[in-house]
Amino acid sequence: MANTAIVIGGGIAGCSSAYALAKRDIEVTLIERNSEIASAASGNPLAMLYPRLSGDDLSSQFALDSYLYSLAFYQSLNLPTTDFSMCGMLQTVFNARELSRIKKVAAHNYPTSVLQYVSHDEASAIAGIPIDHDALYFPTAAWIQPKNLCKHLTQHPNITIINTQQVSQFIKQAHGFEVYSQKQLLATADLLIIANANDAQQLLPDLPLHTKAVRGQVSVLDSTINSRKVNTIICSDGYLSPSAYTAQSHCLGASFSDTEASATELRDVTPTQADHISNLNKLNNISPALYQDLKQNLTGGRVSYRCTTSDYWPLVGELIDGANLTKNPVRPSASPESLPWISGLYINAAHGSKGFTNAPLCAELLASMICGLPLPISNELVCQLNPNRFLLKALGLKKLAKAIASHHKISG
Ligand SMILES: Cc1cc2nc3c(=O)[nH]c(=O)nc-3n(C[C@H](O)[C@H](O)[C@H](O)COP(=O)(O)OP(=O)(O)OC[C@H]3O[C@@H](n4cnc5c(N)ncnc54)[C@H](O)[C@@H]3O)c2cc1C
Repeated sequence: MANTAIVIGGGIAGCSSAYALAKRDIEVTLIERNSEIASAASGNPLAMLYPRLSGDDLSSQFALDSYLYSLAFYQSLNLPTTDFSMCGMLQTVFNARELSRIKKVAAHNYPTSVLQYVSHDEASAIAGIPIDHDALYFPTAAWIQPKNLCKHLTQHPNITIINTQQVSQFIKQAHGFEVYSQKQLLATADLLIIANANDAQQLLPDLPLHTKAVRGQVSVLDSTINSRKVNTIICSDGYLSPSAYTAQSHCLGASFSDTEASATELRDVTPTQADHISNLNKLNNISPALYQDLKQNLTGGRVSYRCTTSDYWPLVGELIDGANLTKNPVRPSASPESLPWISGLYINAAHGSKGFTNAPLCAELLASMICGLPLPISNELVCQLNPNRFLLKALGLKKLAKAIASHHKISG
C-alpha cells in the first residue's frame, strides 16, 4: 500500500491529482517550478466548463463524463460564488457546419438537465441579450476561477507544496522514487505522478508522448451597461463570459495557434494585437451588437500554452519502461501484465483546451488505479487515455494497447 506520493506540476492536472490522493490519506509533495501554483496554462483569469459534443462517439462520451464529473466535483468544494458559477452556456449556431453538429447532438435526446435545443427567441431570453441564432443550451455549464481553485485544492492537510524547484530527473529505487533538481534531492515517495504538461517528455525521454505546445490568448474586456445584461456564457467559435465574475469585465477566448510552439516561443507570453482581433472576431460571430459595444473595451489579455497530443486525447495512467520495451519487445499476443511497467509511476497530462473539465475525472481515474478501486470510466476510455499508446502502436502492439485496461486490478 502506497503512503506517499510526489506530484510534478502545479496546474489543474497536478493539483487535482494531489487532491484525489490526499483525500485517500496519501501524503503528497507537489513540486512546481514557478513561485506560485497555477501560473502556466492553468493561470487564466477564468476557465469555462462545457462539453463539445459531436454525437455518440467515444470522444463525446469522454467529454460528457468529464463535464458532469467536474461540475459535481467543483460543487462539492463549496467554492465562493466569486470563484465558481453554474451560469449555463449557449452554443450558438453561427454557421452551417455548427448547425449540422448541433442538430445531430440534439437528436440524441439527452436529459434536458444536460442540454436542450433552443430557438433564437428562447436563446435571447436565456442570454439576457438578443441572439440571432438557435443554440444548444447547457443549463449547468459553469465558469471557474482557476488560481483560487488550485489554491483551494492544495490546501488539503495531506499536501505539501515545494515551489521554485524544477524537477530535472527522477530515479526509481527499490524503496520508491527519488526526484532531483540537477543533483539536489527534492523528495522521495512511493508514487510519482507526472503532471507537468509540455515538459513531461523531458522527464520521460524513452517514451514517445507525441505532445505539442499550442499558443493561446484570452482577452479581457471592460463591460458596458448593455453587456452586463449577459447572464450566461455564450459561444460561437470562441466564448464570452458574463461580467459577473468581477461585475466589471468579460473574459473572451480563446485564440488558437495553427502551429506547434518552439522552445523559444514557449518563453514568449506577451499578448498580441492579432490575437485580440481574432478573439473579437469570435465575439462578432456570437453577437454583432455586442461586438460593436465592446470592441473598444480591451483592458488586457493573457497568453499561455496548451499541451495537446497528436490524437488529441490526454495521457492518463501508469507508465511502462519505454527503453526496456523497445529493446525487448513482447509478442502482439502477450498479456498487458508482461509489459515492463514502472510500478508506481503515473501521468496526468495533455488536456489541450479542456483541462478544467477533464483533469478532475482523470485525477480520480489515477487515484482509483493506485488504490485498486473500480475505475470511474469505461475500459474503452481507459485504453484510449493509456499514455503508452504511441509506443505500443509504433512497436506493432496495437491489439495489446486495446487490452491495457485489464492490467488494472481491483483489490480485495
Ligand atoms: C488561452 C487558453 C484558454 C483556455 N481556456 C480554457 C477553458 O475555458 N476551459 C478549460 O477547461 N480549459 C481551458 N484551457 C486549457 C487549460 O488551461 C489547460 O488544459 C490546463 O490548464 C492544463 O493544465 P495542466 O495542469 O495540465 O498544465 P499547466 O497548467 O501548464 O501546468 C503544468 C505545470 O507544471 C509546471 N512544470 C513544468 N515542468 C516542471 C518541472 N520540470 N518541475 C516542476 N514543475 C514543472 C509548470 O510550471 C506548470 O505550472 C485554455 C488554455 C488556453 C491556453
